[in-house]
Amino acid sequence: MAAEIIDGKAVAKEIAEQISQEAAGLRAVGREVRLVAVLVGHDEAAKWYANMQARRSESVGIQYQLVELPGDTTQDGLLERLGELNDDPEVSAVILQMPLPKQIDAAVAQKAIAPAKDAEGVHPENLGRLVTGTGLVAPCTPMAAMELLQRACPELSGKEAVVVGRSTIVGKPIALMLEHLSVSATVTVCHSRTKDLASHTRRAEVLVAATGLSQSRWDRYCRAKAAGQAVGLPDLGPLITGEMVSEGTIVIDVATNYIPKGFDDQGEPLRDEKNQVITRTVGDVDFEAVKDKAAAITPVPGGVGPVTVTMLLRNALACAKAGV
Ligand code: NAP
Repeated sequence: MAAEIIDGKAVAKEIAEQISQEAAGLRAVGREVRLVAVLVGHDEAAKWYANMQARRSESVGIQYQLVELPGDTTQDGLLERLGELNDDPEVSAVILQMPLPKQIDAAVAQKAIAPAKDAEGVHPENLGRLVTGTGLVAPCTPMAAMELLQRACPELSGKEAVVVGRSTIVGKPIALMLEHLSVSATVTVCHSRTKDLASHTRRAEVLVAATGLSQSRWDRYCRAKAAGQAVGLPDLGPLITGEMVSEGTIVIDVATNYIPKGFDDQGEPLRDEKNQVITRTVGDVDFEAVKDKAAAITPVPGGVGPVTVTMLLRNALACAKAGV
């Protein structure tokens, strides 16, 4: 059976159109949606991400403002700035860009954003509200995974759902969303201590993979090499192989791993003319093997990723609608 390849970009486009209409509706009654991103220090990847957020926000009529603070900003200084944004009635939602400099405790800073302006949905109060199902906003990646899953399978009630990964902002929220009364799947959560992972994944009618194991193994190897340790190349193959998935399963691959595209005879990763490692982007699931068995599957890239950014915009809109 050939799986439906779930097109995250198309879904993201459709949701963006809805957001755009709602943002225009608010603007028509004098209320702008304004998303403020706070970036501390100069991290190129974070700046790139902020630029992408700006483009995506503006494309749906959400005002985007980037507040850039110097790299030596103190924790108190950052908390004060976040407090000002919380108090500013013109600001609908706030996002704190990662990574933060060493002197700042990311968890404390994240918690300083008012729950009602939490664009990423990761404030402990908003995470806690996932238990009661009463949140205004929720973490973006779990929302994206659920959006794609519910489109692929509108009737999830009673389905055997297996979530691989239990992090606070990805695996656990997905599990809570799946078992919420409005969805009512029967949920199993697997993690690094799970015995016989395949026995769980084979049972799954819905499988959500969210570990990033290949990336973790590659990063650990690079750190060990940099520290001068003699380490062998890790197994960078997919955690979820074809044999671990049953016919007709719906597979949502949340993971994004950037791993080397190949290795030379000395076991060194292939590099481009600028001496950068040539990478490929893969998920947790062996896409080629599983796409012939699954009922539906998200590709990596092009599945959960594009919808995640759109969920940031949806959260910003929700904050704006609830505010004032
Ligand atoms: P994380 O905090 O590192 O958590 C990884 C989880 O995987 C942990 O619960 C860990 O178990 C579990 N795990 C590790 N090895 C395992 C194994 N062999 N078998 C079963 N479970 C195992 O990572 P995260 O922040 O949740 O992110 C997960 C993935 O999602 C990453 O690839 C990340 O890049 C991706 N992600 C994607 C998006 C997107 O927009 N698409 C956004 C955010 C994250 P323990 O709890 O026992 O350690």
